[in-house]
Amino acid sequence: MPSVNIVGGGLAGLAAAAALGSAGFTVDVFESRAFLGGRATSFPVTAGDDDAELIDNCQHVLLRCCANLLDFYTRLGVADRIRFYREFIFLEPGGRQSKLSRGLLPAPLHFTGSFLRMPCLRAADKVAIGRAMLALMRERNRRKDLDQITMLDWLREKMQPERAIERFWRQVLVSAINEELDRMAAQHGFQVFWLGMLARSDAYEMGIPDVPLRELYSADVWSNIGQVKIHARAPVERVVFCDGVASGVQTENGVRAADYHICAVPFERLGTLAPELEIDTSRFEHSPITGIHIWFDRPVTDLPHAALLDRTIQWMFNKDKGRYVQFVVSASRSLVEMGRAEVIDLALAEAAEFFPAVREAKVERAQVIKEIRATYSARPGMEALRPDAATRARNVFLAGDWTRSGWPATMEGAVRSGYLAAEAVASASGRPARFLLPDIA
Ligand SMILES: Cc1cc2nc3c(=O)[nH]c(=O)nc-3n(C[C@H](O)[C@H](O)[C@H](O)COP(=O)(O)OP(=O)(O)OC[C@H]3O[C@@H](n4cnc5c(N)ncnc54)[C@H](O)[C@@H]3O)c2cc1C
Repeated sequence: MPSVNIVGGGLAGLAAAAALGSAGFTVDVFESRAFLGGRATSFPVTAGDDDAELIDNCQHVLLRCCANLLDFYTRLGVADRIRFYREFIFLEPGGRQSKLSRGLLPAPLHFTGSFLRMPCLRAADKVAIGRAMLALMRERNRRKDLDQITMLDWLREKMQPERAIERFWRQVLVSAINEELDRMAAQHGFQVFWLGMLARSDAYEMGIPDVPLRELYSADVWSNIGQVKIHARAPVERVVFCDGVASGVQTENGVRAADYHICAVPFERLGTLAPELEIDTSRFEHSPITGIHIWFDRPVTDLPHAALLDRTIQWMFNKDKGRYVQFVVSASRSLVEMGRAEVIDLALAEAAEFFPAVREAKVERAQVIKEIRATYSARPGMEALRPDAATRARNVFLAGDWTRSGWPATMEGAVRSGYLAAEAVASASGRPARFLLPDIA
């Protein structure tokens, strides 16, 4: 069977490896870091101590509509490590809860009962949101300008009240797309609401791994997947070309030849890895995410997670019986220039407004992880710039959450891109195969 080099052991590269490995290809994955998972990974809380507690670089959540990510977990035999929650909890400062969960009505009406009961929104907000949802269903296949306007443009066009924007649309979308409403192409907002909220009644269920992310891709899961060899701590200097065709990849241990190559690295790395491909990434920009991990001396909440309204911190995830909690801020530009202590003070001050027990609790440990290059910024106009898997070199393919996967930069987007690159390799080798699962609707 043909051999394939995959550069990058993030979800895109690993998904391509799992697909091609199970189809009988001989696959070598080269990952520069000591562990797999790329941005969706974990590391020891004490740097350099491999036995220390593992923490995720940031809480990663998925929805049940992430068909390909779930398929990937199934291929690895770890799908049962994802715990699904059927309730979204919105918390106001002061602690009042609003819960969104499905009722007995079929999609797209399944949220009607809980939505109408949400105290954080006024009746006028709910009517406006309902109107906008109907418009979204009508317009999603008709409008041609959804990649040219921002989501905020569209919400203003639909006369959404400020509170509905802040407490509903913004709360859901900024964390889903990792971009502000006034910078995000409306197309992504449409996709999140259609696939995640409207198309199927269970699609919104939120999945959270019950193990550190890194354990989902640990060495033993690969033993069931054909000929896949993982090389950790194996940075690839560049793809080696000869007459426009790639012959191998240059590693510290020499050139590793293969029939096909997949570059599954972030956009900012592609230029040095394979300049011969001449992929223009100059218009891609990053959007940051900040995770604030705090270990208290006592439980501060018994909620599993909550969306936090009207403040800088947007989500709380209860990582260990209410004593270790993680706060997440997406599109966190306002925190980038702040020092560690300042970010922790801000998080604690805000957290105390939602969880009064924080006032009495002592902080035993705290960690701030600013991922400045968390995802590319999904601004209007970017869709047309995302490259396909195929490149000008007939045996080199691209994968990565920034490539044209049909989804925004998410774990599902990364896995989709990996499956698409794997399909392109299979087709180029004369052994066409389908790996990509269609969206749920
Ligand atoms: C803080 C944070 C929170 C997030 N939260 C969510 C979430 O809740 N839900 C969600 O769906 N998505 C989330 N995302 C997005 C998600 O993590 C990414 O979209 C996805 O993991 C990207 O996967 P990838 O394989 O495309 O890229 P990466 O994960 O970046 O993988 C690329 C890999 O290539 C390796 N590499 C680079 N250059 C080389 C080289 N020369 N040689 C060898 N290896 C190389 C890197 O080390 C890396 O492991 C979050 C991202 C961040 C940063």
